[in-house]
Amino acid sequence: MKNLIVFGAPGAGKGTQSARIVHNHQLVHLSTGELFREALKNQTPVGMEAKAYLDKGLLVPDEVVVQMIREALHAHANAPGFIFDGFPRTKAQAAALDKLLEDIKAPITHVILLEVPDEELKERLKKRAEISARSDDANPNIIEKRIEVYKAETYPLRDYYAEHGKLFVVNGVGKEDEIAQKIQAIIA
Ligand code: ADP
Repeated sequence: MKNLIVFGAPGAGKGTQSARIVHNHQLVHLSTGELFREALKNQTPVGMEAKAYLDKGLLVPDEVVVQMIREALHAHANAPGFIFDGFPRTKAQAAALDKLLEDIKAPITHVILLEVPDEELKERLKKRAEISARSDDANPNIIEKRIEVYKAETYPLRDYYAEHGKLFVVNGVGKEDEIAQKIQAIIA
């Protein structure tokens, strides 16, 4: 069983590369950002609670995110493995995920960190704003905020996974195909 985390800053290409891995390995793709956007669209209680955080580029509180992941894991009890995209984003979330996966005896196998310089991230998000309906991409201040939050709260997880021997750093700049091939070689 493979359980992967695709890790990286906003705009690093987590969603794009996750979609490819899912396609090749039949894993269940869990993107917390997508789950929140879906919940918001359907005006569920989770969606309503998340809205204020998404709009400001802040992290949704850990309990809310972890509960959502817990439910998603239960809903896919027979999955051959998962790809976590945009989760975990804090140390508390990482610890909670380890515990949830311990319960189903399927630990994280690989953490793929997509590294992209800040200037390139901002360029990409600006471009994405032109074609996507994501309000958090449209405002440069919110983009700055998301990158800042990533550095402060999420990037430190790099050390956590490196200590556990699970971290694989991939240069996220280049052709999508080439990046996908590098990831494929790591998880094959
Ligand atoms: P990106 O990484 O490009 O900013 P995502 O779609 O992964 O986009 O996330 C969008 C927003 O959803 C985040 O800015 C945050 O408000 C919320 N979010 C997503 N995942 C998490 C998480 N694991 N913990 C807290 N908030 C989250």
